[in-house]
Amino acid sequence: MTDQTTVEPVRGTRGANDPGPRNLTVDLQNPDLLLPPNTDNGSLPNLKFPFSLAHNRLEDGGWAREVTVRDFPASKSMAGVNMRLGPGVVRELHWHKEAEWAYILDGTARLTVVDAEGNLSIDDLNPGDMWLVPAGVPHAIQGMEDGTEFLLVFDDGNFSENETLLITEYLAHTPPEVLAKNFGVGSAHFANIPKSEKYIFRQPVPPPLDVVRGQLPHKPPRDPYVLLASKIEPERYSGGTVKTIDSRVFPMTTLSALVIEIEPGGMREMHWHPDADEWQYYIEGQARMTVFDATNKARTFDFMPGDVGFVPKTLGHYIENTGKVPVRVVNVFNSRFCTDVSLNQWMALTPPDLIRGHLGLDRTVMNALRQTSQPVVR
Ligand code: MN
Ligand code: MN
Repeated sequence: MTDQTTVEPVRGTRGANDPGPRNLTVDLQNPDLLLPPNTDNGSLPNLKFPFSLAHNRLEDGGWAREVTVRDFPASKSMAGVNMRLGPGVVRELHWHKEAEWAYILDGTARLTVVDAEGNLSIDDLNPGDMWLVPAGVPHAIQGMEDGTEFLLVFDDGNFSENETLLITEYLAHTPPEVLAKNFGVGSAHFANIPKSEKYIFRQPVPPPLDVVRGQLPHKPPRDPYVLLASKIEPERYSGGTVKTIDSRVFPMTTLSALVIEIEPGGMREMHWHPDADEWQYYIEGQARMTVFDATNKARTFDFMPGDVGFVPKTLGHYIENTGKVPVRVVNVFNSRFCTDVSLNQWMALTPPDLIRGHLGLDRTVMNALRQTSQPVVR
């Protein structure tokens, strides 16, 4: 989207104006749908879904919304949740069938994890920090003094935040005499447990980390469930920066990520991922992406902060900054390692006669090819 106040589906002699009815606000945010590049062709599924179009679940002191395969059919392999917890507000102790990857967007979140070996992990995480909670491992999240907002990505598009296994529901659906036997106390002690989920609810802001850790055994997991990724320096390129967070720096993780910043005028270069789908969350700026599929399909999408994008495994794409401020976007992959094939590098490392024979490129283009990868160009 630019500063334009209107957009018409007209290019030269092709198209015609749109006298309405129309939703101009949506058209202005999606100029490449209304007025696609001439190179777009054929049918690709929708690969964009804004969190703004997701149902928001308001709870006591927080909210949560999700983009899953129900709303976004192309995103079969991953689902996303955007959650806000006010100061002290808790996302209930729970677990789920899927692995959970997280990225903190605002404030400070306290994550508490206990695993099958009895290791425990209690950490405060700030914007840019990450966690990975494996499937089945129980955990809770709490907002600290300023509250928190974060992004969660699950490794199954069919995940739902509303269908996790909750500690309240587990106890509520176990016969009281079984609870009594399990904990070795009388069943009357369970008379006041909640009859249904608490999910998101207010608690006092907890004491500092060292105080809370001091109340429990010191038994951290061998490989941490959290990564203070905000402290990792990104790689710098001519058009921006890239932070690569995969299992080489975060051994626990089963989902890998790129945190990309693209300067105005810059672009994440044309590439594809041979072994993973890409789930995108736009944090800042305005961007567009064209996705290419066999043999002649291409579709272009525009993105704003809070939008989700998806690129199926092996399909070609770029991300271009179309605005005046940097684009910040997180890419999450359903693989342990970030890998991509750069179109430019592929061509540079192929015998030049073979490339010229295919594309008839002149000397200027051939000389400009780069044998080393340059993920963000300008
Ligand atoms: Mn969870
Ligand atoms: Mn990509």
